[in-house]
Amino acid sequence: MKTIIILGGGIGGVVSANKLRKKLHSEYKIILIEKNPVHYFVPSFMWVMTGDRKPSNISVKLEKLVNPGIDLVIAEAKSIDLINKNVNTLNGNYNYDYLIIALGAELAPELINGYNQDFQTFYSFEGSVKLFEALQNFNGGTIDVVVCSLPYKCPGAPIEGTLLIADYLRKKGLDNKIKINYFTPEPQPMPVAGPELGSSVIKLLESNNIVFHPLYKLERIVHDNREIFFENKNSEKYDLLVIIPPHRSPQVVRDSGITNEAGWIPANPQTLETKYENVFAIGDITSVPVPGRWKPNVPMMLPKAGVFAHGQAEIVADRIIDKVNNIGNKHIFKGDGYCVIEAGNKKAAFAFGNFYGEPHPNVIMKKIGIKWHIGKVMFEKWWLSSGVKKSLIEVLIKFGIKLFRIPIKI
Ligand SMILES: Cc1cc2nc3c(=O)[nH]c(=O)nc-3n(C[C@H](O)[C@H](O)[C@H](O)COP(=O)(O)OP(=O)(O)OC[C@H]3O[C@@H](n4cnc5c(N)ncnc54)[C@H](O)[C@@H]3O)c2cc1C
Repeated sequence: MKTIIILGGGIGGVVSANKLRKKLHSEYKIILIEKNPVHYFVPSFMWVMTGDRKPSNISVKLEKLVNPGIDLVIAEAKSIDLINKNVNTLNGNYNYDYLIIALGAELAPELINGYNQDFQTFYSFEGSVKLFEALQNFNGGTIDVVVCSLPYKCPGAPIEGTLLIADYLRKKGLDNKIKINYFTPEPQPMPVAGPELGSSVIKLLESNNIVFHPLYKLERIVHDNREIFFENKNSEKYDLLVIIPPHRSPQVVRDSGITNEAGWIPANPQTLETKYENVFAIGDITSVPVPGRWKPNVPMMLPKAGVFAHGQAEIVADRIIDKVNNIGNKHIFKGDGYCVIEAGNKKAAFAFGNFYGEPHPNVIMKKIGIKWHIGKVMFEKWWLSSGVKKSLIEVLIKFGIKLFRIPIKI
């Protein structure tokens, strides 16, 4: 009997555990270790921020998403012993033959110089609930959205959140009473997707009266004066500050000896293998280079996004299944991905392409429209449902993909 442990019950962890359980004989033990008994559909945080979803609409007990026959352990992993193949949790010790690390990236606002607990963000569940309250009470002024540092989850999400804030305040009748700034240390929006996509996104922001400020590296925030300082730039004042906090890997991963200097796990771009045999890493926890370059010696990285965590989870599950069955491994992750950017008024933009494209990722953006919004809503419903309902939604999504010739597969 072999044991496969999956660490982290987020997007990557759930997909890989379910696929393994579906395809492997019950003599293989599958253990999913997750510290949080409640699963949130993260892309919907922004709809909580705008009041389009209640918090209860986007959360579900994790056990409901997990196939029968998986041992779900709700406990925090405290240490990973990669030599003796063991994971220690607050609930006990578990040995493995195969390990999938899908522990994601966590928010670390306390790393901000001038950190104050009173910040606003739509990057966490609690944050989006709190920000909805702030937007309801907001009567006009300057809103500064600040990407504090790189890397951060989902290159489209800060753009999407800013567009939705603009849309919410417009509907509130504040159109002429607000100014929205978007500050980022990046040279363009979603740089990994190339300059053309960047220009399309800037146009989208401008058409919503959002001013895009590239190459703004956050230095510190002085909350008492409502002022933000950036490296080599003038300081900026705000009435409402919304941040995309710094991200880091969970402590348990940094302590395990598997990470690079930045704290992420280097993984083979195609196989997601790590430097330890039979140990795979998927999703936000990984550091995977793509062909493009920031500067001559600085490679671009595959973005941290659910779509990649999902795709990589499927590939790693298939590779483990082939390995235990002694079948030659043919499954590789090819770097295909897509992103839906909600723009308000029930419309969204859709970007898709191959992130392993040579000489740089090859990504294009489709015209903004209602069908992309419907697609995102359907995907949300599919993700949060189980049983027959899930299968029915899946059929509808597959029909939509075919009807509109959308270049993705689920
Ligand atoms: C506001 C927002 C909107 C987004 N929108 C999109 C989108 O539209 N499309 C898209 O593709 N991506 C989107 N993303 C990104 C997407 O949510 C992440 O990339 C995705 O969740 C990564 O999956 P993962 O499995 O790697 O990590 P996660 O889903 O973060 O899962 C990691 C899990 O590990 C658990 N964990 C951590 N440490 C421990 C420990 N020590 N012990 C036990 N458990 C632990 C965590 O509780 C968590 O459940 C968005 C992100 C944000 C913040």
